[in-house]
Amino acid sequence: MARIEGVLDRNWLTNGGPLVEEFEGEVAAVSGVRHAIATCNGTLALEIAISAAGLAGEVITTPFTFVATAHALRRLGITPVFCDVDPVTHNIDPAQVERLVTPRTTGILGVHLWGRPCAVDELTDIADRHGLRLLFDASHALACSSGGRMIGGFGAAETFSFHATKFVNSFEGGAIVTDDDALAERARLIRNFGFADYDQVRALGTNGKMAEVAAAMGLTSLESRDRFTAVNHQNHAAYRTGLAGVQGIEVVPYDDEELTTRQYVVVEVDETAGLSRDDLQEVLWAENVLARRYFYPGCHRVEPYVTEQDEQRLLMPATDRLAHRLLTLPTGTGVDATDIDVIAGIIERAVELGPLLASALPRRQPAPTPVAPMPSDGQASPE
Ligand SMILES: *Cc1c(COP(=O)(O)O)cnc(C)c1O
Repeated sequence: MARIEGVLDRNWLTNGGPLVEEFEGEVAAVSGVRHAIATCNGTLALEIAISAAGLAGEVITTPFTFVATAHALRRLGITPVFCDVDPVTHNIDPAQVERLVTPRTTGILGVHLWGRPCAVDELTDIADRHGLRLLFDASHALACSSGGRMIGGFGAAETFSFHATKFVNSFEGGAIVTDDDALAERARLIRNFGFADYDQVRALGTNGKMAEVAAAMGLTSLESRDRFTAVNHQNHAAYRTGLAGVQGIEVVPYDDEELTTRQYVVVEVDETAGLSRDDLQEVLWAENVLARRYFYPGCHRVEPYVTEQDEQRLLMPATDRLAHRLLTLPTGTGVDATDIDVIAGIIERAVELGPLLASALPRRQPAPTPVAPMPSDGQASPE
């Protein structure tokens, strides 16, 4: 509240105010990079990074991510070329990237899903060999490491999201982080309509600025990151203990050698659980536990990609399998050991009752008939 009052007293509400500048300094420091460019959300951070890196044509990316990763490319007229994921890491499978490279490919956009790092060395190698730019959507990976190095410093640039649901939040917000001075300068230009000075427009820009009040929240949230991390680690461990030995349920592990924030507790429900992931979700929702099917059904199965792209190029067996088996469970500071005991108990009971429960559940409505796809020319987007 003191920070917000400061904003109102200064009457400096946006456009490069002192709190945004301070927040950028902190984000750069956490990530171990020279530049952080704060934005109004993580999607704009992606769009600006993609523009600033000069990507065009085709970019190879993962289908198993929040849809904004693919949309950011597509809204800039770039074709996202989906590369299936590694079933263990849940991240883009480097062994499958190279056969997707065409003369139109300009880059690779990896996602550090759940804050677990991509195969950065392999991807860097592939990008170098083919003269491609490498970017990472690090929306889940602030304050996480890969091979002991902080995420934020890999590839040409990485991006964060500070949406209200993320580990650090600024209500809505994001950032581009990079060690590339020229890329940082272009990103700053694009973030502010292309303005280099009061009335000099030097580039096709957009409005990606973060407001001061958002930076106030971002700074305050960032100050609590050690506590958030400690709580998330405790919660993750409590789920592991609570669900140990529950047939067919596995808590997806984090690497103890890396810095992790564990903001996602992801469980994999396999066929031995006796009820499906969807049935388990239904049971949990009925008990007021808002477990989520992140990131079902995968970008390759949603518009506009499912209509626009060749069916053969959308075969993603590993992603499909994960999209049908994973469930993310509640965590963060709003959840404590008692809650986790209760949630683990519900899951254990649901698995015990298994087939009996599955047959007793009211059958779900059949999937709704798909509506006519949106025009895909970038116009008429009723967001
Ligand atoms: C949250 C998220 C985004 C989008 O960030 P917003 O701040 O919501 O625009 C992009 N990619 C991934 C992987 C995300 O989880």
